[in-house]
Amino acid sequence: MASIDIDKVGKVYAGGVHAVTDISISIADGEFIVLVGPSGCGKSTLLRMVAGLETISSGTVSIGDRIVNRVEPADRDIAMVFQNYALYPHMSVYDNLAYGLKNRGTPKAEINARVAEAARMLQLDPYLDRKPKALSGGQRQRVAMGRAIVRKPAAFLFDEPLSNLDAKLRVSMRGEIKQLQRRLGTTSIYVTHDQLEAMTLADRLVVLNAGRIEQIGTPLEVYHNP
Ligand code: ADP
Ligand code: ADP
Repeated sequence: MASIDIDKVGKVYAGGVHAVTDISISIADGEFIVLVGPSGCGKSTLLRMVAGLETISSGTVSIGDRIVNRVEPADRDIAMVFQNYALYPHMSVYDNLAYGLKNRGTPKAEINARVAEAARMLQLDPYLDRKPKALSGGQRQRVAMGRAIVRKPAAFLFDEPLSNLDAKLRVSMRGEIKQLQRRLGTTSIYVTHDQLEAMTLADRLVVLNAGRIEQIGTPLEVYHNP
């Protein structure tokens, strides 16, 4: 696990769009932060800069004692969960879960143990031999989360992971993420435009508007000072 320090971070896209302006957030070890706000407010840009998927125009992001601007994406020790699941369609669930570990040269016995543990946590045991196309949306998102969990990363980054699911499934998956959070206690940044999801999951909420922080606090603090 690790703390994350976002210090005076800004992003100006080519063409001059100021997507994110002067954002500072100190995230404690094990804290679950939710970035919330309307479409276009800069949530995804900020998350992608932390992930190293987007260059940072100004300021710095540190994960633990590493400044991510200066660390290769592969050495960042973060795992990202995407809205579109980003599964490998030709691979079984087992292979999707194991792939990242295999690439890192993790020993076979360790891979098996980690995949088994993640599959148990996410109730994926019956589906390990299936291909993603033979899974429901909720099961696919569980595989995507499993891929992040098996890595045992310092931090999780979630980019609207539930927004492709129907309303009922969203509510139950929200509960599952909450349970995983309690169990793993991994530092997390979670992006959503769903206020209820944000309130339910967050230790602290960061409300963005037009690329700037509008409010930051616990769900109760934000709820009582709208
Ligand atoms: P959100 O995730 O809150 O919907 P984004 O971070 O996707 O917001 O977008 C923030 C702003 O940056 C928007 O005005 C969007 O149009 C702009 N933007 C996002 N990606 C790019 C890009 N690749 N090039 C130029 N502008 C972009
Ligand atoms: P790992 O499982 O160790 O993350 P992968 O080989 O599965 O390694 O993926 C390589 C990287 O590419 C990962 O960080 C993953 O999050 C990212 N990635 C995979 N699919 C997508 C996608 N559709 N869009 C953006 N990034 C992706």
